[in-house]
Amino acid sequence: MPDRSPAPALVRPRGHEEVLAGLAESARQGTLPHALLFTGEEGVGKYRAAVWLAATLLCERGGSSPCLECGSCLRVQRGSHADVFVVDHQAHGQNAITVDFIAARESRSREAYQGPPVEAFLALRSAEGRGKFVIVREAESMLEEAQNAFLKTLEEPRPGVHILLECSSPGSLLATVRSRVVSVGFGSPGPDACARILLEQGALGPDMDRDELESLVRLAGGSPGLALRLHARAAPRMQALLGAAFCGDRSRAEVAMELFDLDGDFPGKTASAQRRTRARTILDLGLEVLADVERAAAGGDPAQLAHGATASRIAAAPFGRSRERRRAAADGWLAAREDLNLNLSPEALVERALASIGRP
Ligand SMILES: [Zn+2]
Repeated sequence: MPDRSPAPALVRPRGHEEVLAGLAESARQGTLPHALLFTGEEGVGKYRAAVWLAATLLCERGGSSPCLECGSCLRVQRGSHADVFVVDHQAHGQNAITVDFIAARESRSREAYQGPPVEAFLALRSAEGRGKFVIVREAESMLEEAQNAFLKTLEEPRPGVHILLECSSPGSLLATVRSRVVSVGFGSPGPDACARILLEQGALGPDMDRDELESLVRLAGGSPGLALRLHARAAPRMQALLGAAFCGDRSRAEVAMELFDLDGDFPGKTASAQRRTRARTILDLGLEVLADVERAAAGGDPAQLAHGATASRIAAAPFGRSRERRRAAADGWLAAREDLNLNLSPEALVERALASIGRP
């Protein structure tokens, strides 16, 4: 798993600024619930929204958004604000939010999280006197023991303490936790805002042209976080290669080789785990494309489909016009995807899936 920086990114949460200004206003009037659950699809900007809200309420100028210039804002940005505590298990190389993040224990293993727990942070007085914030990133990763330990914090609101949980699947939280927090839903900021966020961040590299950007945004359903991840995993390039294979424009052997040659970030502890992640990405993408081909073949509007342009091209090709071939390919990809859990070569599974497309 890639390590990410423990410093929270203080970046304008495009598309969510109004909601956040409203929450900041409630906080100033003293009506903001002490614990909020920011929910919504992965990558829509919930975590950024939580950091933004904390920075707003801590900002020395007290506006409806952080000034990004005062000492407090800069400290939030650098991750050194004494009144902001971020629980981010990935930044600490952990697979889940263990109880060690929440409460101190007598003994921990060497592999366990070694930093201070939430409880120690809450025991201190506010350093700057404008409140204290606990932000839990990916709260769905909290183990049950951690959630139970966290309940105490949720049950005893303390003046000036705000708890912000960021979560993509609230169903993974215990009912006891969910009942003590107030949900705030975050939708996708929309394709235009998504494209702007991606351009502003400059994370896509200088080579990306307008068409590629648009197709990436569509692939990600307008979610900037997901778009960045898909980009890192070379998903747009993979989609184009799969399209060429399904349309019969390129030989399957060539496509298979290129799919495994693409530069990309495929997490995994060992080289073989990384190849498996890559194969999973390819097979999942192929299944999504095939599902969109079915929708396109049934008269679905390509503009509404994540793989719209590719799917309608495939639907018009000999492969797409044959119901039997589409069915055989769907069975082949599904079987290859399932067999990924067995100890088979990831390359061989992708080749097998490609072979199920049938004659070029
Ligand atoms: Zn400020």
